[in-house]
Amino acid sequence: MKKNDNNQRIIAYFCMEYGLDSEFKIYSGGLGILAGDHLKACKDLGLPLVGIGIKWKQGYVEQYLDKEGNVTDCYRNIDNSRLEDTGMTVEVLIREQQVPIKIWKTEAYGNVPLLLLDTDVPGSPYHGITRQLYGGNEEERVAQEIVLGSGGIKALETLGYDVETYHFNEGHAVIAGLELICDKMKKGDSFHEAREKTKKEIVFTTHTPVEAGNEIHPISRLRYMSANKGLTVEQLAEIGGVPFNMTVAGLRLSRKANSVAELHLDTTKKMWRHVSGKAPIINITNGVHRETWMDQRFLEKNQSENRCWEIHQDNKQQLIKTISEKTGITLKSEKIIIGFARRMTPYKRSDLIFSDLEKVDPLLRDGKIQLVFSGKAHPMDSRGKEMMAVLYEMQKKYPESVVFLQNYDMTMGALLTRGCDVWLNNPQRPREACGTSGMKAAMNGVLNLSILDGWWPEACQHGINGWAIGDETIPRSEEKQNNKDAKALYDVLLQEVIPLYYENHKKWVEMMQQSIKTVQDAFSAERMVREYWGKMYKPKKGRGLA
Ligand SMILES: *Cc1c(COP(=O)(O)O)cnc(C)c1O
Repeated sequence: MKKNDNNQRIIAYFCMEYGLDSEFKIYSGGLGILAGDHLKACKDLGLPLVGIGIKWKQGYVEQYLDKEGNVTDCYRNIDNSRLEDTGMTVEVLIREQQVPIKIWKTEAYGNVPLLLLDTDVPGSPYHGITRQLYGGNEEERVAQEIVLGSGGIKALETLGYDVETYHFNEGHAVIAGLELICDKMKKGDSFHEAREKTKKEIVFTTHTPVEAGNEIHPISRLRYMSANKGLTVEQLAEIGGVPFNMTVAGLRLSRKANSVAELHLDTTKKMWRHVSGKAPIINITNGVHRETWMDQRFLEKNQSENRCWEIHQDNKQQLIKTISEKTGITLKSEKIIIGFARRMTPYKRSDLIFSDLEKVDPLLRDGKIQLVFSGKAHPMDSRGKEMMAVLYEMQKKYPESVVFLQNYDMTMGALLTRGCDVWLNNPQRPREACGTSGMKAAMNGVLNLSILDGWWPEACQHGINGWAIGDETIPRSEEKQNNKDAKALYDVLLQEVIPLYYENHKKWVEMMQQSIKTVQDAFSAERMVREYWGKMYKPKKGRGLA
């Protein structure tokens, strides 16, 4: 069995998407960027981990708005040139057909290789399975998950990795668990013996804090797609329930599970309290990879207030320049820029700041605040696309102080989380699992102005390193929550943020420094990965990292 270079057994990390760098578009958003940062931090710390993912044929959707605000979705093929062809293939059963899968490898992260699985094999009628990330219908999704799960286990075997623990990042990978059970049954174990042994090998991270957001499939679909790996209806039901819930399956297939923020732990525990036989759930708050996301100049020793402001102004100019090139709109560097970049979907409430136009209209008219939005909608989310159109309308109405940047990606993400003055986040609660863009902003002295959801309650010191919008209480109805949160947003914006920016520069820069100081270590991917090592991967043997 192949160990890594230091002869260590390895952790196999499964994820549907990876955000490694902006141009390699096998990612859609937060989940992928988290996975990319996980690999990078393991590389930095020299930890033995191999990533398993999919080599999508097309990059995640690109989105452009026309003058009327209609959204056009475009897809572009991914450039394979950076990938190493291992020359190896494996086969998995999908709809009772043997589907060949090619294994690519990328060594971009040194000791942390990433294996990418691809059904686009010359002559194969099944080449389309790995065509589009989160494209296709539910059957296609299951087919993709068989490629990731079963294909991933077989690829690890074929390449000779000696795997100590399998980490499923989100429920997309649970078919790998069924594959491991099936392997053991083929060697003579009973179903229950195989399940118990498999459970000792798996850890699971859950993300979605909303019941409806968790993927479910009728068991008949799993059987029709050959995702059941020979397991009976009763055995499948024992793992994932009826209908088969991928998150429930993850919780029952693993020895330990985790949430991605403290508040998310509470939500997760409540949401799954009825699930019997699940793994204990702990929390490991996400972190971001500092070399990727943080302006390294902020690491200079003994940084003066002037120097801190100078670096920030440089980043702000960079942002203003890019916006001007892309949109023809030139924002003013002396006026505050408030940034908001999220997936465009109703619960993120990108239009909350416009809910009382009487209040914001004067601020936008005289350019006292400047708003920069960005984000993509899922291609099938028509309400998300409508939200983009609304923001675009606002840009037309206030052409000097509202901008919508099309085609949000990692480059844009980095630019915005460095160059804005304030980073706004106001989702409905409790619906944000973690939200890592705010961490990127905070490390660059971009002050968070956020609802107390996701990671922010752990970091927020109101008026010291950023601001909370409102308090922890959540009104029962959606309408009440919208009204309460909008009012709280206006209160803090008009009474605290804007006056401070224009009237107390010294205090503003002090807050920037506090923001950088309080967030850069506590919310780094390095801290996160050390915690995974100590609490999830190697908890018993005491071999966790300090
Ligand atoms: C960081 C990042 C995300 C995740 O941030 P959220 O706060 O969860 O929205 C998504 N997309 C891009 C391009 C990013 O850089």
